[in-house]
Amino acid sequence: MLRANQAAKRLPCWICEQPINYNAGPDNDDSFSVDHFKPRSTHRHLAEEPSNLRSAHLRCNKSRGDRDVKPGLGFVAQTW
Ligand SMILES: [Zn+2]
Repeated sequence: MLRANQAAKRLPCWICEQPINYNAGPDNDDSFSVDHFKPRSTHRHLAEEPSNLRSAHLRCNKSRGDRDVKPGLGFVAQTW
């Protein structure tokens, strides 16, 4: 239900700020996916916390991985 509730908000992608195609199938990279603001891998207890969910393109979600994102500023640069 968390996914459905998030989709029902019809929000734009929180990563690239472009509209999401809510009618696209799951094999379409422009389709909706639920992203976790705090990654599940490091914040398992927030995986089902509604305030931790964000609407994102499947493509953006995939390319983000577990990196931190600052909305509107692109990906945080890796520092080595
Ligand atoms: Zn996007």
